[in-house]
Amino acid sequence: MEKEIRDVVIIGTGPAGYTAAIYSGRANLKPLIIEGHQPGGQLMITTDIENFPGFPEGIPGPELMSRMRKQAERFNVDFIFGSVAEADVSRSPFGLTLDDGRDILARTLIIATGANAKWLGIESEGLYRGRGVSACATCDGFFFRNCRVFVVGGGDTAMEEALYLTKFASEVVLVHRREEFRASKIMSLRAKKNPKIKTMLNEVVDEILGDGTKVTGIRLKNVKSGELIEHACDGVFMAIGHEPNATLFKGQLDMDDYGYILTKAHSTETSVTGVFACGDVQDFIYRQAVTAVGTGCMSAVEAERYLESIR
Ligand SMILES: Cc1cc2nc3c(=O)[nH]c(=O)nc-3n(C[C@H](O)[C@H](O)[C@H](O)COP(=O)(O)OP(=O)(O)OC[C@H]3O[C@@H](n4cnc5c(N)ncnc54)[C@H](O)[C@@H]3O)c2cc1C
Repeated sequence: MEKEIRDVVIIGTGPAGYTAAIYSGRANLKPLIIEGHQPGGQLMITTDIENFPGFPEGIPGPELMSRMRKQAERFNVDFIFGSVAEADVSRSPFGLTLDDGRDILARTLIIATGANAKWLGIESEGLYRGRGVSACATCDGFFFRNCRVFVVGGGDTAMEEALYLTKFASEVVLVHRREEFRASKIMSLRAKKNPKIKTMLNEVVDEILGDGTKVTGIRLKNVKSGELIEHACDGVFMAIGHEPNATLFKGQLDMDDYGYILTKAHSTETSVTGVFACGDVQDFIYRQAVTAVGTGCMSAVEAERYLESIR
């Protein structure tokens, strides 16, 4: 039996995927969207979003995503539960195999699989996530006015997060497990020069301390002496990197050294014609809902134009 070929298949239901679905649904392309293991994406695990335009009072992340989903449902979008287990973009139509074994063929593919912040993996970190523990200064820095916060990490991202947090916090402490930061000289210097930033080197996080409802401190372990010291603080920001969800396409699409899918300038087109990538899976700079929405729109418009060109 011949398999159906879909015009547009979108992988992922975060802000980027839902936006691509709304646009391609309204363009009458009857898109199919594959939800993945986390329907709604990263914002499902957060509380208030205060920087998404249109919600002057802020909006809980899960509610924002439920509204996006409802909007997509209005426009003839087919939803599929499950995740993509295998992808083949070596020839068109592109082939996908879901984790339940179903096969899907697509004339255009929109990859909106997002990225995940890396976490330390200690229990207290999970307990206080959203209650003082964060992995995004741009998202949550505002909640830490006049507070003392710790930033864990030693790369450029950690320096950027620390510098950004000085706009709000009274003191920012950078914690790094090595003797020296591995950030670029210019970024390390900028952080060192900032009077609000203190550094603690050769230290790892042993535990995040709290009163059951919010973070109250952090216990650090010196990697040389093994000494454990508790420090009072109101927030802990993890800045130890992000992992783009792009392994399905490794060796098939051009990626940068960190595994982010590369897209052409001013476009979401990947190295394979007809395959587009939007949101955090191709954005290592901004990683915001509103930028994911913007590139989701671009992917849908570009997919539509590509389909027009091959008809
Ligand atoms: C705790 C937290 C708070 C945040 N707060 C803010 C904020 O206040 N403001 C802001 O603008 N941004 C915030 N962000 C960042 C924001 O969530 C992301 O920038 C945004 O969600 C990226 O959207 P996306 O659509 O690219 O990917 P994601 O939201 O990551 O969604 C990815 C989707 O892809 C699916 N997927 C992954 N792999 C597969 C697969 N193999 N098959 C099928 N589907 C797959 C997942 O199930 C998911 O649905 C926050 C992030 C976190 C973690």
